[in-house]
Amino acid sequence: MGERFFNFSAGPATLPLPVLERIRDDLPSLAGVGASVLEISHRSAHFGEILESAKDGISRLLGLPDTHKVLFVPGGARLQFSMVPMNLLRGSGKRADYILTGSWGRKAVPEAELEGDVRVCWSGEPDGYSTVPAAGEIADLGADAAYVHVTSNETIEGVQFTEVPDTGATPLVCDASSEFLSRPIAVDRYALLYAGAQKNVGPAGVTIVIVREDLLERVPAGLHTMLDYRNWVKHDSLINTPPAFAIYVVNLVTRWLIEEIGGLAAMQKRNEAKAARLYELIDSSDGYYRGHARADARSKMNVTFRLADADLEARFLEEAAARGLSGLKGHRSVGGIRASIYNAMPPEGVAALCDFMTEFRA
Ligand code: PMP
Repeated sequence: MGERFFNFSAGPATLPLPVLERIRDDLPSLAGVGASVLEISHRSAHFGEILESAKDGISRLLGLPDTHKVLFVPGGARLQFSMVPMNLLRGSGKRADYILTGSWGRKAVPEAELEGDVRVCWSGEPDGYSTVPAAGEIADLGADAAYVHVTSNETIEGVQFTEVPDTGATPLVCDASSEFLSRPIAVDRYALLYAGAQKNVGPAGVTIVIVREDLLERVPAGLHTMLDYRNWVKHDSLINTPPAFAIYVVNLVTRWLIEEIGGLAAMQKRNEAKAARLYELIDSSDGYYRGHARADARSKMNVTFRLADADLEARFLEEAAARGLSGLKGHRSVGGIRASIYNAMPPEGVAALCDFMTEFRA
């Protein structure tokens, strides 16, 4: 095996080493199957067990009530930008409320506008997406709306809700792509929650969608088979050939979270300690490193900051890479530095980054 860098990439992102080693061992032939997971039928009993185990792992970690179903849908989180309004806004006669705390939430809006009326009820754009609304700040949030859409962690700007807004009886829809399974959540508050796997829970190719089943009564007739949530529930995520390998890896990651980490409360503790270490270094650098997000909205997953100018940032990235610290370049739309410290980033990786940042400044 070649040397592994500490990979701070925002996604596809680092995976737990024990999971990668298990994949390597399983790859030529799954125990008792005689073929790899890449080669077996998605209708086989063996794949059925993997799918059930992945659903069970997610449900157990989140404490999911029976009212909600776990689905595995291809097409990335961005397909959900379209499926959500197709299923929940089209023909509803209502509008949808979108809270914009960053670039991903903003990208979801034009897709929803193709399906009906959209109200951007709060936008952090004037402040460069550096913060989130305070509880109760948004007037009439969700009143008479088909749903409220929120992005719980904005990956590009590094802005995260500590607690998502209360939408009362109006369905709350959440893009949790870059924080899924990083901490316990009150999952019963969400009508629909989705997350592309390639940040915290697996490889690219599958999106986890958690949907409260009573929502399906609102789905209008006439949707294409593959775009109708009712079909995903009815066929237990097997309408067609699923992204089987990605689901298999998601299953291994949930087992790692349960058996080796000890669940989401333990994961949260570890993630908060990692983030605190980095933010403390930024805050005590006398302005040499300048954090992007306002302190109370800082992401525990994507730590974004800048140096004095682009030349210095380029040098920072180059020297970091030479030290085995990769993937630190900020998103092309905003620049700067972004350290993504998802579940699988070990505390040693953050310690190595902090040591480097201290030395670089000196
Ligand atoms: N939402 C968020 C919060 C994201 O971080 C991303 C990917 N970076 C997306 C949506 C888009 O995900 P995908 O590439 O799976 O469509």
